[in-house]
Amino acid sequence: MIPADLISKKRDGHAFTKNELTWFINGYLAGKITEAQMTALLMAIFYTGMGEEETFALVDVMLNSGSTLDFSDSGTYVADKHSTGGVGDKVSLILAPIMAAAGLNNPMIAGRGLGFTGGTIDKLETIPGFDTSPTLETFKDWVEKNGCSIMAQSDQICPADKKIYTLRDQTGTIPTVPLICGSIMSKKIAEGISGLVLDIKVGNGTFMKTMEQARNLGSWMKKIGTAFNIETDIVFTNMSQPLGRFAGLACEVQESIKALKGNGPKDLMDVTYELGAKLLIQANFANQMDEAIQLQRSLIDSGQALDAFDTMVDTQGGRLDEFDSNTKPDHETVVHAPKDGIIEWMDTESIGWALVTLGCGRINPENSIDNSAGIEFLKKVGEETHKGDPVFRLFNSDPERLDSASSMLEKTFSTGESVQGSALILGNL
Ligand code: URA
Repeated sequence: MIPADLISKKRDGHAFTKNELTWFINGYLAGKITEAQMTALLMAIFYTGMGEEETFALVDVMLNSGSTLDFSDSGTYVADKHSTGGVGDKVSLILAPIMAAAGLNNPMIAGRGLGFTGGTIDKLETIPGFDTSPTLETFKDWVEKNGCSIMAQSDQICPADKKIYTLRDQTGTIPTVPLICGSIMSKKIAEGISGLVLDIKVGNGTFMKTMEQARNLGSWMKKIGTAFNIETDIVFTNMSQPLGRFAGLACEVQESIKALKGNGPKDLMDVTYELGAKLLIQANFANQMDEAIQLQRSLIDSGQALDAFDTMVDTQGGRLDEFDSNTKPDHETVVHAPKDGIIEWMDTESIGWALVTLGCGRINPENSIDNSAGIEFLKKVGEETHKGDPVFRLFNSDPERLDSASSMLEKTFSTGESVQGSALILGNL
C-alpha cells in the first residue's frame, strides 16, 4: 500500500477497510508513516467522515494498538466516566473518588488538553510527584486497592490515541465524530470496564455546538459501547459557559478538593451527581436518581470521597503538602465589566483559547505549560454586574501571556437586560 494513494482515495470518498486502517495506523506508530501523511489522513477524515463499519474498525484498530485490561475477577462493578471536553470541566477529579468511596472500581484513562478544552492529566500533573504513567500492572493494582486511579494513554495502552491525540491537537482535526469516537471509545474499552457514562458537552465551549450534533455523536458512542458489551449511558450537559468558578490547571484541582470537602459550586456538583448517579444505578448501588444523588452527597459529607482522593494521590506519588507552594501564580490581573447589567452570554470557546494563551494548553507540542495559570469567574451568566466590577480574575507566571489573554477575555462576554435561562442537564440517551 502507498500512503499518498490511500489518502487521496479517502479524500475522494473511499471507505477504508480494516486492513487499510491497521496498516496506516500501525505504520504511523512504527514511524513508517510520517506526521505529514497522518495529518493529511486526519484532514481527509475530517472532511469526508466515516461510515459505520469504518468507524467501528477505527475503534478496534486503535484499541488493539496496545494492551487491554481485564477486571473480570474484580468482585465489584467496574465502570468509568468520560467527557467530550469543555472549559472548567473538572468532574473526573471529583467523580472518580466518589465512585471509589461508593465501592465501585473506576479505572480512568484520561487525556491532556485538546484544542481549547482542558485535560485531566495536565491538571493532575500540577500535584508534585503525581505519576500519570504507571505500568498497566501497577495501574490495575492501584484500582483494585483504592477503587480508582487515573492515568494517561501510554505506549502500553492506547498508544494510537496517545500519538494521534497530540497530532489532532496541533492540526485542528478534533471536532469530527469518527475521530472522537475512536479516541474516547478505544480508551474506555481498553480499560476492561462493564459500565460507562459519557458526558457529551453541548454549546459554545465544546466541540459539539448544537444538540443535533451532540445527539448524533451520542448515538454513535452508545452503539459502539453496546457492541463492546459496555452498558453505556449518555448525558448531554450544557457548556455555554465554563463549569464551576475556575478554569485552568492547579486551580481546577483546588476547586475539586473544595468540592470534595462539600463546598463545590452548584453547577459543578449538579453535573457530577447526575453522571455519578448513572453509574451507581448501573452498579445496582441505587435504584433511582434521587437515591443515587443522595448517596454521593453522603459520601462527601462523611469525608469518604475526600479520603479516596487523598489515597489516590498518595498512592500515585503525589505530594499535596507541596501543591499550593508549587503552583502559586506570580502575576494576576482583572477584566472589568464595561457597563451595568446582567451577564447574558459568554464566548466559552474563546475563553478556552485565552486559557491556552495563559499557559494552560500547548500551541505547539514542545510548549511547556504553566501549572499556576487559570481564570476565576467572578461573574457567571445570569449574574448582575455593575460597570467596573471584576468579571474575570486571571493569573499565571508569565506577564506577557497574561496581557495577551487579558485582551482576549475582554471580548468574551456581554452584559444586557436579561438572560434566557438554559438548563444545565440537557437530556439523556
Ligand atoms: N476526549 C478524548 O479523549 N478524545 C477526543 O477526541 C475528545 C475528547
